[in-house]
Amino acid sequence: MNKKKIAILGSTGSIGTQALDVIEQNPDLFEVEVLTANSQFELLIQQAIKFKPNAVVIVNDDHYDHVYEALDPLGIKVYAGRKALDQIVQMGSIDMVLTALVGFAGLSPTLEALKAGKAIALANKETLVVAGELVMATAKKYNAPIIPVDSEHSAIFQCLVGEEHNPVEKIILTASGGPFRTKSLEEIEKASLNEALNHPNWSMGSKVTIDSATLMNKGLEAIEAKWLFGLKPEQVEIIVHPQSIIHSLVGFADGSLKAQLGLPDMRLPIQYALGFPYRIPSNSKRFSFTDFPNLNFEQPDLDRFPNLRIALECMQKAGNMPCVMNAANEVAVDAFLNEKISFTDISRIIEKTIVNSSFLSTPDYQDYIESDQEARNRASSFIY
Ligand code: NDP
Ligand code: MG
Repeated sequence: MNKKKIAILGSTGSIGTQALDVIEQNPDLFEVEVLTANSQFELLIQQAIKFKPNAVVIVNDDHYDHVYEALDPLGIKVYAGRKALDQIVQMGSIDMVLTALVGFAGLSPTLEALKAGKAIALANKETLVVAGELVMATAKKYNAPIIPVDSEHSAIFQCLVGEEHNPVEKIILTASGGPFRTKSLEEIEKASLNEALNHPNWSMGSKVTIDSATLMNKGLEAIEAKWLFGLKPEQVEIIVHPQSIIHSLVGFADGSLKAQLGLPDMRLPIQYALGFPYRIPSNSKRFSFTDFPNLNFEQPDLDRFPNLRIALECMQKAGNMPCVMNAANEVAVDAFLNEKISFTDISRIIEKTIVNSSFLSTPDYQDYIESDQEARNRASSFIY
């Protein structure tokens, strides 16, 4: 069997580095064709020396000279800038593009990869939140598969294998509830950056960790699921499950529920996406019920976690509203990470941005670009 040639967009992040672990464990199955980073050029160089890709992209071009000097003598092509991501994903030799970069920046290279007919292993959920309709239509037009990496969506995808002829009644996304699940509104008001970054079950990049603390992450995932699996908003349910063992469930017309379970370890869904349709043997730690005698479930609290309410409302409104919400969230989370605003300011800024934005019911690509930029400007004006 030929090795699958993988391009990892965002190889220096949490998903990117874990994907490289998976590839390192399976040298007979996978080969790294492209690696990209935003600004962590030293780590990118180290990764390239180890995995010998055909090419790398450093998006922040201030670091181009450094990367070029280190990798050109090894015969590795070096490119810089955002546009380079759009071009590199079209490279003929790539079989699959893992979108492990964070935020709106994922949209453009994902669309270009789909247009080139590449299989996508999709970690970057913002792509589907911002422009799910356009992305799914592009995938269909160019016959390019999208395999989810997000653990909940991987769970649903796995539950749907073999169910092609059976319509889905509903899906149930599980949420850990994050570090503030049991905190009062008063305590959440005073939450510090360190408390918000301290996720109980998962170790992830800082943006998605804050999104998990506000429950925006689950809202983004509801929208991601709606597009990926072609559902109506009413078919997407959310349940808080603090142990993060059941990764999500699918309900069918006969009342059956199928779930996918496992320890919380992102290497599992990453490996499933890279290897699909084959399951690759792994020596990862096995789940045991006796280690988890209690699996608990509770309703999410939309009053203490207004970001989830906002996201579900935007999923209903559709059009450019999820795009506007995503942009405001990216700006607000960045401001919180830089300790410019409080934790609860995040949802206030998103809500104010949405109220002040105009609604477009059937946006095209250019509308998404403009909605994103306008929402970023507006959200920033509420901060500085
Ligand atoms: P990280 O912040 O850890 O990594 C992000 C990666 O993207 C880094 O390689 C970073 O480069 C690069 N990057 C950042 N900004 C840009 C930009 N503007 N243009 C190009 N590249 C950029 O994120 P995660 O790995 O945690 O998350 C990646 C995506 O996967 C997110 O969409 C997240 O929601 C999703 N996801 C993550 C999970 C996790 O467990 N981490 C679980 C499920 C989904 P540099 O290092 O140079 O800054
Ligand atoms: Mg998830």
